[in-house]
Amino acid sequence: MRFTAGAATDVGRVRPGNEDRFFTAPRLVAVADGMGGHLGGGTASALTVDVCAQLAALETLVPADVVAAVERANQDIVERAAADSSLHGMGTTLTGVAVVDVGGVTHFAVFNVGDSRVYRVEGVTLTPVTVDHSEVQELVAAGRLTADEARVHPGRNVITRSIGTAPPPAVDIVLLSPRPGDRFLVCSDGLTGEVDDAAIAAVLVVTADPQAAADALVTAALAAGGRDNVTVVVADAESADVVDEPTAPRRPAPGSWS
Ligand code: CA
Repeated sequence: MRFTAGAATDVGRVRPGNEDRFFTAPRLVAVADGMGGHLGGGTASALTVDVCAQLAALETLVPADVVAAVERANQDIVERAAADSSLHGMGTTLTGVAVVDVGGVTHFAVFNVGDSRVYRVEGVTLTPVTVDHSEVQELVAAGRLTADEARVHPGRNVITRSIGTAPPPAVDIVLLSPRPGDRFLVCSDGLTGEVDDAAIAAVLVVTADPQAAADALVTAALAAGGRDNVTVVVADAESADVVDEPTAPRRPAPGSWS
């Protein structure tokens, strides 16, 4: 199982710098949305993406590797902030999808800390896989806000979990079984704050090429206001063992057995 991914990011129309980072590799895609001042945010998300690259380099991934990577990123950020007062208080979200082995069976491990999101495209529907770690999400869960109200709530940027804290954050992990034609969207809140799920789904359903889909979603977020940095990864999963298998039994070519 491997991903074919497209990715796009933009500073948006208001913010002075882009503190979002993304990572794509055949078995791991991720988005990190940094926060904490004009140097800190980009440093925290970049450190976290560096740890993603180390994770992706492992030969086989298991869910515990993802947990360990979040702990390592947390430690890197805390140590770096302690050594440099201009980076004090920096942190980042991290969310993504890893292809993992669970008892010899391939799964997707969707992981999340913060309010960046992973969705799975199911037919024409966009299904959220992650649950935001944010104050507005707690109000939604308690039935005190609707999802649409939460999207425009003034406190929507207050997150309740991030990487770069003591004690380290717990990472949510959801294991999914692969299905044919699986497509995932990984994004920062600069997309979901500007474009509603139905409009996002409409792009993902009609745009087959993942890079074209990622570009179109960033364009949509900018057109809707671009009030935040916006980052989008669209990842199509392809099974490595369904590559034009012939239906007839294969025979060795004459002379090929010795
Ligand atoms: Ca953001």
